[in-house]
Amino acid sequence: MGNPLRDRRTAAELASVGQVIEIDEKIGSFTDLAKIIETDLAALGADKMPAGWRERVVRGELQFGFADTRKSIPTVAGRATVDTDAVCQRCLQPFRLTLCIEPRLLLLNGQETAKEFDEFEVWELEERTLRPQDIVEELLIMAMPFSTRHDNMADCIAFSADDEHATELKRPFAALGSQMKQHEKDPDQ
Ligand SMILES: [Zn+2]
Repeated sequence: MGNPLRDRRTAAELASVGQVIEIDEKIGSFTDLAKIIETDLAALGADKMPAGWRERVVRGELQFGFADTRKSIPTVAGRATVDTDAVCQRCLQPFRLTLCIEPRLLLLNGQETAKEFDEFEVWELEERTLRPQDIVEELLIMAMPFSTRHDNMADCIAFSADDEHATELKRPFAALGSQMKQHEKDPDQ
């Protein structure tokens, strides 16, 4: 038996059986998403690189069906979340970023429209068949913030004037200054 998340089928096939798909997939198997995260994490030094970022699991569920009683307009709805790794653009520290999607989509071919179902968004199918994982992946990529930042200011060292990072930067000069003073007072030391 194949993996229904990865198998290519038509939207009508998936909808007609009311296909329910459990999502339990590592980030690493979402190739395009993983590439984006990898590029983002490349800003970190090797010592700060979160181990196992590819192993974070995307969990959720998709359910296919029809929007109309005539069963002509396939839909997919569901939910998926993942705690992924990102770099805060303010403080350049790694943090866990939660991505959450709750799709309600009408699966339409280019020429089709369906204005009356406005609780759904239109998802234009580019090919005759679709791979459910591709939809999840594209939505997760769209859910990524344009600029990733710590949500909570208390977690972000860029917001704290006397945080560790700032102290680290000041300390060498302060130490050097007191050594010089010491030297002036007692040149033999
Ligand atoms: Zn931050």
